[in-house]
Amino acid sequence: MPRAEHSISREDISDNALKVMYRLNNAGFQSYLVGGCVRDLMLGMQPKDFDVVTNATPEQIKGLFKNCRLIGRRFRLAHIVFGREIIEVATFRGHHEDGAKDNLSKASEHGQLLRDNVFGSIEEDAERRDFTFNAMYYNVADFTVTDFANGRVAVARREVDLIGDPEVRYREDPVRMLRAIRFAVKLDMTITPRTADPIRKLAHLLNNIPPARLFEETLKLFLSGQGKDTFLALLDYGLLEPLFPQLVPLLKDSNSKEMHFILQVLANTDERINNDQRVTPAFLYAAFLWYPLEEHAQKLQAEAGLNPHDAFNIASGDVIHRQVQRIMIPKRFSTVMRDIWMLQHRLPRRFGRRAFQMLSHPKFRAAYDFLLVRGQTEGGELLELAEWWNSFQSAEPGKQKRMLTALRQKEGGSGNSNKGKPRRRRKPAQAKPQGSKDA
Ligand code: ATP
Ligand code: MG
Repeated sequence: MPRAEHSISREDISDNALKVMYRLNNAGFQSYLVGGCVRDLMLGMQPKDFDVVTNATPEQIKGLFKNCRLIGRRFRLAHIVFGREIIEVATFRGHHEDGAKDNLSKASEHGQLLRDNVFGSIEEDAERRDFTFNAMYYNVADFTVTDFANGRVAVARREVDLIGDPEVRYREDPVRMLRAIRFAVKLDMTITPRTADPIRKLAHLLNNIPPARLFEETLKLFLSGQGKDTFLALLDYGLLEPLFPQLVPLLKDSNSKEMHFILQVLANTDERINNDQRVTPAFLYAAFLWYPLEEHAQKLQAEAGLNPHDAFNIASGDVIHRQVQRIMIPKRFSTVMRDIWMLQHRLPRRFGRRAFQMLSHPKFRAAYDFLLVRGQTEGGELLELAEWWNSFQSAEPGKQKRMLTALRQKEGGSGNSNKGKPRRRRKPAQAKPQGSKDA
C-alpha cells in the first residue's frame, strides 16, 4: 500500500523509533515498524510501544547504537534505550528446520534457544507472526505498508484471524489462544469461527507452557484495563481452567458469591488502571485464590482436626503451592498475598491498641480494600466491619476513641468481634528451651 492508500502518518510515530529506522537505513539495512504498533495505527489507536524489525543481526544493530542492549531468552533482541522509552529491534526470523515449537518443556529449552534465533527473510518473518493484523510492515523509507496476510481486511472487518491453519498454530504455541482472546477484547473485535473453533478442544495445551511465561501473559490479560471482560471471555472459552484450576470449579454458577467477588475485584482493578492508579498483581491473585483458600482451610479443620489458625496458615501455603505449578508468582507478590489474607482475620479484632497497630500496617490499605469487596459481596457483618474501618481510618483521634468505646460496649467488653474466625489458640506458658538465645 503506497502512502495514499493507508492512514499511517509519520507524525503518529515515536521520534525515537523513527531515529532507529533512519540510522539502520543509512547503514544500508532494511527496517520496518511491525506488529501491534502498525495494527493500532491502522485502527486509529495510540500504540503502546513501537517495535522495529530489520535484516541487520543483533551484533550489527549493537554496532550502530551505543544505547543498545542485547537481551532475550526465547528470542535474541536489541533494546535501544532512550530514557524511559525503549525501541525493541528484532532481526527477521526464519523457519525452524524441524518445526520446533516455542512451547517445549524445560528439557528442550537449550535447543529451543538456538532454534529461535534462526534468521530469515521478511516473508518468512511475516509467516511466523500470529494474527493477520499483526503482519503488516511500515517502511519509513518510502512510507509504504506491506500487508503479507491481508491484515487490512481483518482491520476493516474488525476480526481476529490467525495466519495459517489455526490448530497447527495453536499447537506450535498455545499462548496464541490467550492472545486471540486478549486482542478480541482489547480491540473490540470478533474472533473468526476458524480461529475460535479449536480453542475449547486445545485449551488444555496451556498446561505445557512454563509458569514463568504464563505469569507474564496473565499480567497482560488482567492488568491492561479490560481485565473483567477478558476474564469472562477466557472462562467462556475454557482457557481459565488450565490457568486457575482451583478457582474454576467454584465458578459454575454465574450468580455465586465467588463469581460476584472476582468480577467486582476485576472491575475495580480496571477502573484504577484507567485512572492511572497503582495496581499490584498480588491483590488480584489474592482475590482469585481467596475462596479456594477458605474452602481448603475449612476442609483441613474438619478433616485433619487443625485449629482455625493453623488450618488457615497451612491452607495458604498449599493454595499458593498448587497455583505456582501453573502460573509462577514471584515471592515479592506471594508475600503480599499472604499478608492480605492474614489481615482479613485480624481486621475483625479491633480492641485497644490493635486498631491503631492495624492502621500502621504497611498492607492495611490493600487488606481494607479486599475486605470492602468481600463485604459488598457477602453483606452482613462483613459489610458492617468494612464500613467501620472506613470511618475509623479517616476519623480524628477523639472520634476514634469514641468508636472504640462504643465497640467495647456493644461487644460486651470483649472488644473482639471474632466469632467463628480463626484465632491463635493460647498456648500454656512454656519453659524456654535450653540454649535459646534469649534464655
Ligand atoms: P500489544 O499492543 O499488546 O503489545 P502486540 O501485537 O504488539 O500487541 P507483542 O506481544 O508486543 O504484541 O508482540 C509483537 C508482535 O510479535 C505481534 O504483533 C506478533 O506479530 C508477534 N508475536 C508475538 N507473540 C507471538 C506469538 N506467540 N506467535 C507469533 N507471533 C507473535
Ligand atoms: Mg507490542
